Amino acid sequence: MKTDSTKQPSLNHTLGLLESLIAFDTTSSLSNLQLIEFVSQYLEQRGLSPRLTSNTEGNKSNLWVTIGPESEGGIVLSGHTDVVPVAGQKWSSDPFQLSQRDGKLYGRGTADMKGFLASVLSHTDFFMSLPLKVPIHFAFSYDEEVGCTGVGGLIKDVQDNLPLPVAVIVGEPTSMKIIGGNKGGRTFETHICGTDGHSSLPQLGVNSILVANRILSKLDEMQTQLIHEADPNNGFNPPYTTLDVGIIKGGTAANIIPARCDLIWGFRGLPEQDMDSLENTIRNYIDEEIVPEMQAVSSDTFVTTTVRSDVPPLQPDENSTAEQLVRHLSQLNESGRVSYGTEAGLFQQAGIPGVIYGPGSIEQAHLPDEFIEESQLAQCNQFLSQLGKWATEPVYQ
Ligand SMILES: [Zn+2]
Repeated sequence: MKTDSTKQPSLNHTLGLLESLIAFDTTSSLSNLQLIEFVSQYLEQRGLSPRLTSNTEGNKSNLWVTIGPESEGGIVLSGHTDVVPVAGQKWSSDPFQLSQRDGKLYGRGTADMKGFLASVLSHTDFFMSLPLKVPIHFAFSYDEEVGCTGVGGLIKDVQDNLPLPVAVIVGEPTSMKIIGGNKGGRTFETHICGTDGHSSLPQLGVNSILVANRILSKLDEMQTQLIHEADPNNGFNPPYTTLDVGIIKGGTAANIIPARCDLIWGFRGLPEQDMDSLENTIRNYIDEEIVPEMQAVSSDTFVTTTVRSDVPPLQPDENSTAEQLVRHLSQLNESGRVSYGTEAGLFQQAGIPGVIYGPGSIEQAHLPDEFIEESQLAQCNQFLSQLGKWATEPVYQ
């Protein structure tokens, strides 16, 4: 195999890119276009042609680029450009300015997951210098942190218009260990509309907070059942489908019956979990047990529940091209499971098997003083360099 190892990126080159990426505040609620523009320019300067897929408002884009032949069988390096908010968090240094202390690089998104993006991007010249037999694609998406809602447009573009890849590596922070499966997640918004009134005459109103309490009790009961049903050795932590209740808002005063209460909640399901059945259980409970009682007091009352996000799980498949490839390159011979959602399940649904494998630790993600260790980035760089060399002579074993 003939490779131009002089084009292998230095760690400093990766860190320089990371510094630039961190400086863009791409909190999910904001536009990511400045970052996308920066990445596009970096690629275009090298003669590449990134494809963008945007949201309907036109303020966010995914980026897709191919290095190597325009053919099927490529390997996708996938990551999200958005980060979680820093609001309310206490940081020791500016979260949007990369800060290097004791071999660690601090900044929002260093671990989750601009470190991976920087490592990937810094391999552009190296990948371009190689006689690649299979293409390497970069897939940088938006709105992952709010339910993987951005990447769908990119996947659809690939399915409709481009030669299909055979594997995706999602670079979420796994401390460079292979993760072969992740839980799915479905989140909901429930609006409870009761009726107000003086709290001294509760029988004349429908207290929406008490209705919320009944829904939450039912969910809690379902959680207990799910814990009982679980196989403790399935590799997930925790080994059962879990309930999320994130937000409850309701009420205006101590002595007014609250007419309005809103809940944001959801389930993180094991790959084999029937999410529709869970959803139907709670919907039926609300429709059959709760709403008739509310309407007996006032016909103006109702409860609505809408799906906010729905991320399919990544079904573990140790024999998939993705897992076989990463095992082969990393020399690791086992894969774990994680409880957070990723876009890997969406790629899998589109017929592109995936694994999660990336630098940094999920334990640092989403926290103040988020950091990635330099050594993790060095390890990721080494892996990507091996991937490039492999792609010149692609054999799996
Ligand atoms: Zn992430």
